[in-house]
Parts: sequence; structure tokens; C-alpha cells
Amino acid sequence: MNILQTDIQFIPGVGPRKAEILNKEIDVFTLGDLLRWYPYRYIDRTRIYYVHEIDSGQAYIQLKGRITAFETFGEGRRRRLVAHFTDGTGFVDLVWFQGIRFVESKYKTNQEYIVFGKPTLFNGKWNIAHPDIDPFMNESDRPEGLMAMYITTEKMKNHFLNSRAMQKIIASAFSLIKERLPESLSPDVVQEAGLMPFHDALENIHFPKTPQLLRDAEYRLKFEELFYIQLNIVRYAAERKEKLEGFIFGKVGETLNSFFREHLPFELTDAQKRVIREIRRDTATGRQMNRLLQGDVGSGKTLVALMCMLIARDNGFQSALMAPTEILASQHCETFSRMLKGMPVRVELLTGSTRKKERERLHAALLAGEIDILIGTHALIEDVVRFQNLGFVVIDEQHRFGVVQRARLWGKNRQPPHVLVMTATPIPRTLAMTVYGDLDVSVIDELPPGRKPVETLHRYDRKRGALYQFIREQIGQGRQVYIVYPLIEESETLDLKNLEEGYLHIRETFPEFSVCKMHGRMKAAEKEEVMRRFVANEAQIMVSTTVIEVGVNVPNASVMVIESAQRFGLSQLHQLRGRVGRGADQSYCVLITPYELSADTRKRMEIMTESNDGFVIAEADLKLRGPGDLEGTQQSGVPFNLHIADLVRDNAILYRAREIAEALIGEDPHLAQPHHRVLRQQISRLSGNRYDWGRIS
Ligand code: ADP
Ligand code: MG
Repeated sequence: MNILQTDIQFIPGVGPRKAEILNKEIDVFTLGDLLRWYPYRYIDRTRIYYVHEIDSGQAYIQLKGRITAFETFGEGRRRRLVAHFTDGTGFVDLVWFQGIRFVESKYKTNQEYIVFGKPTLFNGKWNIAHPDIDPFMNESDRPEGLMAMYITTEKMKNHFLNSRAMQKIIASAFSLIKERLPESLSPDVVQEAGLMPFHDALENIHFPKTPQLLRDAEYRLKFEELFYIQLNIVRYAAERKEKLEGFIFGKVGETLNSFFREHLPFELTDAQKRVIREIRRDTATGRQMNRLLQGDVGSGKTLVALMCMLIARDNGFQSALMAPTEILASQHCETFSRMLKGMPVRVELLTGSTRKKERERLHAALLAGEIDILIGTHALIEDVVRFQNLGFVVIDEQHRFGVVQRARLWGKNRQPPHVLVMTATPIPRTLAMTVYGDLDVSVIDELPPGRKPVETLHRYDRKRGALYQFIREQIGQGRQVYIVYPLIEESETLDLKNLEEGYLHIRETFPEFSVCKMHGRMKAAEKEEVMRRFVANEAQIMVSTTVIEVGVNVPNASVMVIESAQRFGLSQLHQLRGRVGRGADQSYCVLITPYELSADTRKRMEIMTESNDGFVIAEADLKLRGPGDLEGTQQSGVPFNLHIADLVRDNAILYRAREIAEALIGEDPHLAQPHHRVLRQQISRLSGNRYDWGRIS
């Protein structure tokens, strides 16, 4: 058995009880898992501070001095032990809330100790809770250089598994390892990327001998993590290209031509033309297309989708368009029907609220090949929905639609249909490479002519007078206004109360206008009715939750007010802002927040007021929030979590990993060469039972 598979309970100092806590709290089961529980930071322990030097800027410090006295305060569970500690330049209180008896018996007054911990100011006095304490040793015996710090949970700390204890356990794990650990990458990759050996990297990540060795160790481990993700994606894409044949859309026929000649109400932008060409090229080759179409809100992706569907029809195929919400699906359906008026193209709508009778009628018509374009929500990819000859599927605004979900579509015809995934949330390149790394990417980087960029303002919630005046003026000029309230997930009831109050307040403030409201709990028919009224300008103000977030199109709406804007992420704010600025008029987005804001939030508001560029916003969002939070990373088909690499900071490593993975798969697509065996093993280890990449293709 590989030493890395040793159950952690057999590591000296762990045992069954601590093992159970490590299993539960941080998913660490084996010695290998433990060694991959990487430190989150390092502290220089060569430096000893004086008490009078402590200030609030230091995270962790090391002091040398003695305890003058112990005191206990409080009773029962509130009991705490305080040791008064001094080095002659001042006093600090060392405080324990747990393990008091142990501490009292272990440490003595009037002995030299080295104390290590995080100072905090409490009632005007510095104190350090649960410090590490060691007897003072001569320079030569003290641990040298950088000391690793580990993240530990509350529960771990309660069982004496603090950062220090984790370090000891990891040291004791290393003592069990008698031989050098086998390489986890193949020799050609190690050499090509110039990596430190696996064994040394693990040693140096936990016990760095020098800062340079630590950097090399970090590079090696980050590279490995990103490399396996890329290898998997590249391998999978290559396999699919090899195996999956695609329908051939060989000709441009009468439907597209007559649409182009007689129905297209405007010129296509150059970007739209280019994307249509890219899609035509893909669909003519005989391989199955999987393409991601990115384009900022309002850039005209829907029209591109429609035209491609007409090409599909000209070649005898049906198409489907899947939208995230019913509102959006029905809006797409209306748009399509309007644009195709008078043409022999049948468009139908299928959503969760389509009645049973209607549904049966649609199912039959689809099977008979009478419907050319089916538009709907998730309902349309259910197994009961069968087509006569589905050739082209468009997925609109679905960040969670990763590899696994896409695979569900592939059974809908004797060969998988071509797939176009559209998104207005620009995905930063590094994230796209990990989430949608197997898709080809098209970008619409140009808005239709005549659009004015939305002007974005940040206002504090106490000063609404001027805002209301402004809203009045805009409506006076014939425009319409959205007012959005945040969804606070903890309580839907509270959210609705929030919205309800906002709605009443707005109605009182603007008795001269008609105000409508919309939220996710309303029935589809109700929502539709509200939407219809707003589109028809029967209501001038729409008060809503974020249900209007994606895709809804009312060109006459020129003002978007976002209440409690601090509660939204950047990408979401940008999405919401995209609801205005769709017509030719100057549009505005007003972000309302309280005066007191965290530095991060202030930064977010600044970015919004300064930039209209979705890509800038997405990059900033990734930086501020970290990729783990971004919608889509979890369920997108990326089968691994990142332990050490960071998609923002480590993008150079990511590109390098991608390059090497591509070259390797180019040479050995099935990883069949003997020295690549380790790569196959690692992939299956990393994927665990979560996802079998082989099965899908
Ligand atoms: P999105 O990319 O956000 O899905 P849409 O496809 O909804 O954008 O397009 C937004 C609006 O722009 C629609 O009203 C659409 O009819 C219009 N539009 C699309 N392409 C053009 C164009 N080339 N010229 C002018 N208007 C266009
Ligand atoms: Mg859209």
C-alpha cells in the first residue's frame, strides 16, 4: 500500500478521536490528505518583539518574557484564566477559555518563555488568547525561519487542534515516511515545467528551509493543481472531437435568405456577422459544435441565435432555446414570433406552467417535426420531450450549465445536436479556461450603433429627495423606471416584506404614476401580466426583486434604481444595469447604499460608477470575491476544488499548465504511453467518484 493512503488515526499524536474530527471538519482522511492540507500563511519566527512595540498592525508576534501571576475570572462555562506577562517594557494578558487546568499545571511564574500569538486590544489592554508558549531556548535551538500557519475550525480548536498542533501532526506524519514519495506528475512534465520534485515540494510547503525553496514548492504544487484540471479538460475535448460526429448544416437556404432580405430590421454589427460566420464554419465541418458566446447585455446575442436556428431549419433540423426563467422564455418567444412574422417558421413555447393538454399537443408536434423552434425553460430538456430531428440547441444565461448538464442534451437525437451557450456575464479568461475550457469561445465585443453607455451614480439612502425629483423628470419625458430590492436569502418572507414596503412607499411618493411590482413567488401568469403592462407602458415604475435580472428587454426603461446595492455582487449589479440602456435614450443606474460602507463595498460602488465594461467588472469581481463565490464554479463540471492555486493571482501558471497539457495530449491523446500512467492514476484519484470523464464520451 502507498504510504499516502495511511489512515490518519495511525499517525503518532492523532488517534481515533482526533482523526474523527479531522475527517469531519476538514475532510482529511489519509496521510496524503493531511500533507495536502496546505498552510495558508507563514510567519517569520526569527524576530522577537518587545511588548511596547505591539500595535494593531501586527497579525502575529513573538515575545520573550515571564508570567508574574495567574488569575481566574468568571464561573462555569464563562471561566477564563489570565496570565499577566511582561518583558520589562510593558504588560500583556495571556488568556485561556479552555484547558485551564492543563495550562495552570504546565506553566510557572518567573520562568523565561517565548510566547507566540495574535495580540488584540481589549478594554485598553493588549491580550493574546490561547498563545503558543515554549520555554526560552538559545538561538541555536529555536525553530528557524518561516513557520507555517494552518486554518483550523472552531471545533478543531476546542479539541486542541490549533495551528500549532496541526504542524506537529504534520511533522509526525513526515517521520512515518521512510522513502521519498513517488512523483505525482510524469517525468516529461516535471522537466518541461522545471518543477521541484513532489517530495521536496511537500516538505518545503510545510517546513520551508528558505524563502526561495518555499516559492519553488508553491509553484510546483500550484502548477500541479491547475495542470490536472487542464489536462482533464483538454483530454476530454480531444476525445469528444474524435468520437462525436456532428450534423452538417451544409447550405444556406431560403429561410435565412428571406429573413435577411425582408425581415431583419437593422444592419448586423460586424461582431454579430463574425460570430455567425464562426458558427457556420463549425456546423459545416461534420464535428459537433460546443461554443460559448459571450457578449455584454444588449449586444444582440439573441438575434445571432435566431439566425443560426434558421440555418438549422434550412438544413432540415429543429432547434431549441433554453432560458433560465419563464419570463425570459416567453419574451424570447414573442421576439422570435414578431421577427419571423409571415414566414413559414413555427415557434412554440414550453415551460413548467404549460398546461397538460397543450403540452401533449406540443410533444406530438415536436415528434412529427412540425415545430421548427421550441423555446422554453428547463422543462424542454426533460426526457419526455422528444424531437423528430433536433440539430441545434441554444442555452441562454445559464452559468451552471457545465459539461454534465450539456451531456443530457446529447441523447436527444441519434447524434448530439450542436450547442451554443450564451452568456452576458463575461467570464474572465482564467475562469472560462477552467469552467468552460472544453468550449470554443466567440465574443461579441460591440454594441449595436446608437447606444449610449449607461451613466451610473452612487447615492446614500438618506438623500432621496433629489432622486425622486429625477425619476419624475424622466417619466415626464416618457421614460420608465425599475426599482430593485435585494433578495436576502435567509428569509424569503422578510424579502417580500421589504419589497412590499418599498412598493407602498413608492406608490405614496408617486401617486401620479402607475406602479407595478414583481417577485419570484408570483405565479407565472401574474408575472406575465405585470410584464405585459410594463412593456405596454401602462405602468411607469416597476418595483421588483432580482427576477428581472436576466435578459428582460424594455427599451423604453431608462432608469434602474438599485436599493441596498451593497448587498449585490459586482456581476449582479452589472447584469441589473444591463436592463436599461437598451434604447437610444440616455439611461441611468442609481446605486443606493447606507453611508457607512466597508472598504470592499465602497470599492465595488466605485468600479460600477467608473466602468461599463463587463469584462473589467468580471475581473474585478473575481479579485474581490475570489472564484469560489462566483456562480458556476461549483456546479460547472470542474471536478476538483482548488487547494493552493488562485485563478486570479496564478494566471501565468494556469496558462503554462494549459500549454503543456495541450502539447501532451497532442502527442499522446489517450495517455497511453507507459510514463504517462501516473497521469491517468492521478486523474482518477482526483475525480474520485464524483465524475467519470470517460463515461460521457
Ligand atoms: P443580449 O445580447 O443581451 O441578449 P439582445 O439580443 O436582447 O441582447 O438585443 C438587445 C436589443 O438590441 C434587442 O432589442 C435587439 O433587437 C437589438 N439589436 C440586436 N442586434 C442589433 C443590431 N445589429 N442593430 C440594432 N439593434 C440590434
Ligand atoms: Mg439575452
